[in-house]
Amino acid sequence: MSFDFDLFVIGGGSGGVRAARVAAGDTGAKVGLAEMDRYGGTCVIRGCVPKKLMVFASTYAPMVDEAQAYGWSTELGDFSWTDFRGKLEAELDRLEGVYRRLLDGSGVQKFDARAVVKDAHTVELSTGETFTAKHILVATGGRPQRPDIANAELGIVSDDIFHLPELPKKILIIGGGYIACEFACILNGLGVEVTQYYRGAQILRGFDDEARGLIAEQMTASGIKLKLGTNIEEMRRATEAEISGAVSAENDGMGLPPEARGQASAGQDAGAGPVWVKSTTGEEEVFDTVFFATGRSPNTTDIGLEEAGVALSRSGAIEVDAFSQTAVPSIYAIGDATDRVNLTPVAIREGMAFVETVFKGNPTPVDHELIPSAVFTQPEMGTVGLTEEEARDQEPIEVYATSFKPMQSSFAGRPDRVMMKLIVSQKTRKVLGCHIVAPGAGEMIQLAGVAVKMGATKEDFDRTVAVHPTMSEEIVTMKSPTRSS
Ligand code: NDP
Repeated sequence: MSFDFDLFVIGGGSGGVRAARVAAGDTGAKVGLAEMDRYGGTCVIRGCVPKKLMVFASTYAPMVDEAQAYGWSTELGDFSWTDFRGKLEAELDRLEGVYRRLLDGSGVQKFDARAVVKDAHTVELSTGETFTAKHILVATGGRPQRPDIANAELGIVSDDIFHLPELPKKILIIGGGYIACEFACILNGLGVEVTQYYRGAQILRGFDDEARGLIAEQMTASGIKLKLGTNIEEMRRATEAEISGAVSAENDGMGLPPEARGQASAGQDAGAGPVWVKSTTGEEEVFDTVFFATGRSPNTTDIGLEEAGVALSRSGAIEVDAFSQTAVPSIYAIGDATDRVNLTPVAIREGMAFVETVFKGNPTPVDHELIPSAVFTQPEMGTVGLTEEEARDQEPIEVYATSFKPMQSSFAGRPDRVMMKLIVSQKTRKVLGCHIVAPGAGEMIQLAGVAVKMGATKEDFDRTVAVHPTMSEEIVTMKSPTRSS
């Protein structure tokens, strides 16, 4: 049977684009790709890249304070969200252009359209075109999820944050995961008054307890009003009386003139004026903006997957085997749509492993072990391997940990603390986990990740000479275990 394409990819994010262009470029396969929004997907257009640029923007204010402590006579001026946002949009346009050109350059046929799976070998586009393909790769990603409470549409989600016409003066962030904590730090650094509600006992569930404790402490010290064991119970548009009450209480009008309060954010209702919120602890407060960072869902609805025989989990994630193959042998799926490890570099690897398996005759399972990652809070967290809690449940361990004031901010009189931590197997001496909370921890963990992935032992770390004076030298100079269990 002959097909229109060897491969049809649905979704032009990091994973889909990589798989499409490697299949076409390296193997000469005839590849089509449909993207209904912008090329680059969540990471490039509404995730990692714009987020990291906002992280950079948010770090200059404390740097000015620090510069003064180092003898510079410099003053902090105003931050122009409008100027920054304009440059950000231009940069995202440039990057989308790069993605489009990469696809063109490798011979992938692009369709700016929504695609639906019709059967094991057929896709139908919103343009009305129908194509057959020997293989279909679903790389449709995920989308932010609002909680199921009345008036939730009044809140914004992470997709909206990059398009705000103005920065809110006072924001409530709901959630305690990556996105909530990163944006709490970013917005706090940009001068927004940030309150964060997290329903659990400590933010960043799933990360090492000591590391997330230190991040929570530092976030609070930097001015974020972090309220643990607290969730949003009710929300609605604030009344004029509540707004003026909030204004007179704060005596600042929440930064927006009354006539501008109608357009504080993107989205239909989201952010179109101050919101009254009642928390589960009984507090009532008015915020310019409520930001839901309450998790993401796979984009798998209404694209014909179940009708074609593809199995989905209860959360809507596409069920795949180690080779990213679904229940329908000709259909594969990668990235956030499969809800395995929802990180850009992992989706890219899954895409590469798919091409290796299907187009290069080299069956390659995806390796999801020991993935280093970073949370771009301030300070950052870099982590690879098991947390102390996970390792302790698995086998006898030694924990090497140190927390100290780093030289740069300590000289400036700031109370910042950093942490370096190694979890070591008592039996094999292998480093099972490495957790760093420090400025630049994302950069550090990439390198520590190589050693941990190679199976380095504590003694291998000890044999490595310290780079002095750095923060990260502590990772090779911890001589005695802090505790064993
Ligand atoms: P997460 O799953 O990390 O966090 C969701 C948060 O929302 C949790 O704190 C969760 O609480 C809370 N929550 C969920 N439902 C509700 C509810 N109904 N009411 C109140 N709180 C709720 O999701 P994110 O959206 O932060 O991030 C999604 C994924 O994106 C991450 O898992 C990560 O893989 C990726 N990402 C990675 C980044 C990086 O690498 N630096 C940056 C940003 C995102 P609870 O803990 O109690 O479940």
